[in-house]
Amino acid sequence: MASAYERGLVVCHCCNKLCEHIEIDVGHVACPRCETKLYQRSPNSLQRTWACLIAALILFLPANIYPISYFTKSGTVQEDTIMSGVIALAAADMLPIALIVFTASIAIPFAKIIGLSFILISLKFNILRNRKSRLRMYHAIEWIGKWSMLDLFVISIMATLVNLGQILDFSCGPAATAFAMVILLTVLATESFDTRLIWDDVND
Ligand SMILES: [Zn+2]
Repeated sequence: MASAYERGLVVCHCCNKLCEHIEIDVGHVACPRCETKLYQRSPNSLQRTWACLIAALILFLPANIYPISYFTKSGTVQEDTIMSGVIALAAADMLPIALIVFTASIAIPFAKIIGLSFILISLKFNILRNRKSRLRMYHAIEWIGKWSMLDLFVISIMATLVNLGQILDFSCGPAATAFAMVILLTVLATESFDTRLIWDDVND
């Protein structure tokens, strides 16, 4: 069965109208209903996704190596990396919170980067030319994407712990900026990726 792409059709990503991909002016294709610019495939989707993923992977190192927080308790300054923070929470009998912080700050961002890289590599080298395998891959990205909001949840937990008054003087370390950038870049990478590319060149 011919795909919409092969038939010269495109769905408007703004109003979902199925339109014919016909140029009105040179290089300008717009939706007849809402006048949104139409693309059969987002331009430079793979390049933009790769750029965000590589930047996220590079920043993932400082985010985990450098201290993410400094706080003063009983006159001593204590610094924590994400991992030492997780261990400290577990040691303080807050195992569920430790697990949530570990999952949201280390496991999920890493799984997102690896999962999307795997999909890009398989598209580049045309591995998994089977519709079912690609569908499974797509569901994997969707599943990881659902957990993105957990990062925000962790930030709110941290803020609550600080507000409990147990920590007198709290400041963010250099890893906090790197961590925020990792989260932002993984979101941008997922947004830049045109999932329709998964269905191109597929053999049934
Ligand atoms: Zn439209």
